[in-house]
Amino acid sequence: MNEAPAADDPQTFEDLGLHDDVLKALGDLGWETPTPVQRDSYSMIVDGNDVIVQARTGTGKTGAFGIPLVDKLMSIDGDEQALVLAPTRELALQSAREIEKLGAHRSIDTVAVYGGASMERQVSALKKGARVISGTPGRVLDHLKRGTITASRLRVLVLDEADEMLSMGFAKELNAIIERLPSNRQTLLFSATVDRAIKRVAERHMRDPIFLGLSGDHVGALGIEHFVYMLSGMGRVGNLISILEIENPESALIFCNTKAETEEVSAALKRAGFNAEWLNGDRPQREREKVLAQTRRNEVRFLVATDVAARGIDVSHLTHVINFHLPENVEQYVHRTGRTGRAGRTGTAISLVGPNELGILYYLRLQYGILPVERTLPSAGEAKTRREADRIAMIDLAYPNPPDERSLALARRLITHPDAERMLAGLLGAFFGSGSEEIDEVAAKQRRRGRRATTPPKPPKDSDEGVTEAKAPPTATLYVNVGKSDDLKASELGRLLQERTGLKRREIGRIRVRNTHSLVDVPEARAKEIIDSMAGAVLRERELSVELAENEGAAPRS
Ligand code: AMP
Repeated sequence: MNEAPAADDPQTFEDLGLHDDVLKALGDLGWETPTPVQRDSYSMIVDGNDVIVQARTGTGKTGAFGIPLVDKLMSIDGDEQALVLAPTRELALQSAREIEKLGAHRSIDTVAVYGGASMERQVSALKKGARVISGTPGRVLDHLKRGTITASRLRVLVLDEADEMLSMGFAKELNAIIERLPSNRQTLLFSATVDRAIKRVAERHMRDPIFLGLSGDHVGALGIEHFVYMLSGMGRVGNLISILEIENPESALIFCNTKAETEEVSAALKRAGFNAEWLNGDRPQREREKVLAQTRRNEVRFLVATDVAARGIDVSHLTHVINFHLPENVEQYVHRTGRTGRAGRTGTAISLVGPNELGILYYLRLQYGILPVERTLPSAGEAKTRREADRIAMIDLAYPNPPDERSLALARRLITHPDAERMLAGLLGAFFGSGSEEIDEVAAKQRRRGRRATTPPKPPKDSDEGVTEAKAPPTATLYVNVGKSDDLKASELGRLLQERTGLKRREIGRIRVRNTHSLVDVPEARAKEIIDSMAGAVLRERELSVELAENEGAAPRS
């Protein structure tokens, strides 16, 4: 293998000398500058070389072969074709879509061929003259055998995620396909890892390939930050929850090494109040698709998956990759963490590392120069401070309304009393139930859900302190600036409230429509949230103003 020459100065897409119609397509896609792998591989590819590119998902590797394909390798009026092989149907589809867009203004059509989809439709697209065929090995071999793909027309072969294809057991199909192709074809091999098996494929099927390695540039360009938490190995799920608390990722793909673990971890996260879903090969296809759709719509914060289940799925919007366990080999680490920090964005990889997993860390540094930064779990003191903050937030949320004058006056006297601490502590004990860990869990869950408290926790049954248990959830009365003079009906206002706030009908108390305004009873703990949700609402052609009613007393608290 030849080593690639060092890359020249940064280039723009214009510098690459692309056709105007390709530049236009890049403009449509919103790609402004080539990623390092696109920049460095372009000229060697268009010069007709066989090239091995070490690049992972997220580096813009599809563009690295897609751009030269549509720009130079496929002539506009010729009939030669390119074949892109990918390990999964998701990836085959994704690449087909991207290449189709890149070639949109050059009349170069692309077809995706993969198992499980209609053969007829694929055959008809092939007959219509698709020039780029993006498919999975099994289905492509089927087409070659039936003659619906003509091997002699295939002048360019791209092996995308070649290491994944091998590790998924496609070696036989790959060989069978490649042996049918013309020997004067150009072969491009993309792989996140280049081990002995990949080198064997290259030796057998490529001509004098140039090797474009994973230089510091390519690693750095990904902008992934790597972190590790060294753990004892005991209570790992609890550790994960603490780590999620500290790191507070917007979203994450959490990798587990076994199928059973994905379910366990996801269930534990849900119990702790996090929004989580799991994905593994045992989950029926329909459920898998549902979870993926939810993930794409940003409705899943933590997707817990095995390596196999996460293959080929587009999770580029997820900000973090978390290794619940380090994978069994460093190549897998590179694959997993490549799922975040997609082109132009930064990503974060966090690994939980037990005593048995230290070896992988060592090899990570040796083979890929990746040296994760070590972070530590919060100390007991820090955890206590957090729990206290959660409890205070809980009280805050339980009483969002201005207190009545009498209670306020009493509170003011109490906090200036020399024994205020003792008395307040007593009241708090009654509110939370002294020493109860359950309350900490409830308070933490409340924060994780980002939701407001619906009711304050019940005081402990054995409490004999001065707080009596609430008999009904406290109510607040809201003032709304429309009334009879606007022809308003109570039912109309009730419906609007339900629509905008998600309240159930039974949660809304009395609605009194007066001449110029209306009054609505709602759960006190949600009053502020309801007022916020009603902002900007319009009813009977009037912009609504909703606020706490001053004179209509809230229902008594006890
Ligand atoms: P890939 O490595 O091919 O999976 O690409 C990762 C993501 O980066 C995809 O969403 C591409 O659409 C996007 N992408 C690829 N090249 C560029 C570029 N030059 N500028 C901006 N985004 C890009």
